[in-house]
Amino acid sequence: MKSEDEIMQTVGLKAEGVQWNLGELYAGPDDPRIEADLAEARQQADAFAQQYRGKIATLDGPGLARALGEYERLSELEGRPSFYANLLFAADTQNQKAQQLVHRTREAATETSNLVVFFSLDLIALDDDRVSVLLAAPEMADYRHYLETIRRFKPYTLSEKEEQLINQKTLTGRSAFEQLYEELTGSLRFRVSVDGQEQELSDGEVMALLRQPNRELRKHAFTVFLETHARQSLVITSVFNTMFLDHKVECEMRHYDDVVLPTHLANEIAPQTVDAMMQAVERHYPLAQEYFRLKARLLGLDTLKNTDIYAPIAAEAEQLTFAQAQSLILTAFGRFNGQFAALATDFFQKRWIDAEVRAGKRGGAFCAALTPTHHPYILSSYNGTSRDVSTLAHELGHGIHYSLARKQNLMNYDAPLVLAETASVFAEIVLTRHLLAETKNPAARRALLCDLLEEIYGTVFRQTALTRFEMAGHRQRRSGQLSADDIGALWLQEQQKLFGDSVEMIPAYRWGWTYISHFIHSRFYCYSSSFGELLTLALFQRYLDEGETFVPSYMRLLESGGSQRPEHALAQIGIDINQPEFWDRGFRVIQGFLTDLQGEVASSQ
Ligand SMILES: [Zn+2]
Repeated sequence: MKSEDEIMQTVGLKAEGVQWNLGELYAGPDDPRIEADLAEARQQADAFAQQYRGKIATLDGPGLARALGEYERLSELEGRPSFYANLLFAADTQNQKAQQLVHRTREAATETSNLVVFFSLDLIALDDDRVSVLLAAPEMADYRHYLETIRRFKPYTLSEKEEQLINQKTLTGRSAFEQLYEELTGSLRFRVSVDGQEQELSDGEVMALLRQPNRELRKHAFTVFLETHARQSLVITSVFNTMFLDHKVECEMRHYDDVVLPTHLANEIAPQTVDAMMQAVERHYPLAQEYFRLKARLLGLDTLKNTDIYAPIAAEAEQLTFAQAQSLILTAFGRFNGQFAALATDFFQKRWIDAEVRAGKRGGAFCAALTPTHHPYILSSYNGTSRDVSTLAHELGHGIHYSLARKQNLMNYDAPLVLAETASVFAEIVLTRHLLAETKNPAARRALLCDLLEEIYGTVFRQTALTRFEMAGHRQRRSGQLSADDIGALWLQEQQKLFGDSVEMIPAYRWGWTYISHFIHSRFYCYSSSFGELLTLALFQRYLDEGETFVPSYMRLLESGGSQRPEHALAQIGIDINQPEFWDRGFRVIQGFLTDLQGEVASSQ
């Protein structure tokens, strides 16, 4: 292992050389152990089916707990090759071997899971009295939540044959379109002229230009980005139409009366709780608009364009090397909690992060975890900006959350989506608060508050507008094929509601929907971002009010992973998400940051 100094010297502004080590999973895409694991998973699935098919209703509590344990081990074995393939592909979307491996492992996983699809269907089919008896067995304690959660899908579940058919046809249906979209958008390069020089940039590099000071360049870069996507509108529009229609058909087959309901069920959250949250966010759109007017003043502009939202307000934003970012984040985390910092340190020291900027790498950032028996991985494209530092802190928050939840079994490992940002957003605020405490320079303090408020805008407000757009797209697709113009009009309509007259959208922004991959690969994901962020702001307020005494219950919440419904997990630390006042607490935190910024601005004039 290199010393801290050596790392400082070698790791520069683009995190050169900071690549994850996937060798712990497999040696490479040709590693024969991949095929061996796929074959082994298939064989175990066969054996599992032989042992349990048609017998689930006859098992007692301890017997069912044993079956669930075997099922977990099988899921782990089956998931490993495709987990590896997806990481390999994310790190290099143009690598043909990685592309092939994604397809190969997905096909194999579908075959294997089809062999055991009867298991969850039989669990869902059990009658309620029988389930009460089974759950009384102490061995079943760790599977109670899993059983209750899948059984909520009972009214929408089809026969085994039909479920298998849907699974199989998904490969050439929804999954095929998803993969096409990923490969197409991953292959796009953007010809941007920077300081008079034509450059061919990756999506991560273009998006980074939205955070640099030259106003014309920001507008030019984003216009090129959107128009390059627009040139692929034939394919992208077709993919959107197909995804909307596919979901409509599946909802009808399963008798869902609302297209968002499957997502609510998976998120373990009541529809009316989400409605109340989204309406609260929409009522507070003026808060976002108030920020945009203040930002226009800070930039000396009459009206903000949407390409100005993330513009830096300090003349020269300080760049940090990756090594500096690492030390800053670890210090900030350490001031909050020692365990928080220790868990984050593992990611740096053990090469669980891929942060280097490379062409062909998937855009954005994520933290991925497979099972509690294996550590998570983080991918980001680190460009040295303060935003990249926050993103890194955010993903490390996810990593810490997963690491703490490793004491759960596989079924209880993943936090429900609305709780999934509980550590990531918290980690970002911890970092900002540390920086505000250390920074005496007023301009730098203003910049920090802007960064924080922009992050909150992008999550709480923007993600609600994205969800409204997505809902409108699904609704309108019911009456027929949508043209790119139809989709563009729905998009602009929702953005307009959010911006009011505080932001002017650039003309190319009608293509703003084309690059948001959540619409394609995780339907209605976006509302859980708004939900999770507001929730975390409220939790942070609790930490400010209660100090150290709050930390143990917060850590317990993270450790609980996905072992409880969000409502129950939160009730245990005294939070009732069904009280309308709960959301107001989140907005009061946002108002507080905005007031701080207004104060900083006033005192500088
Ligand atoms: Zn996140």
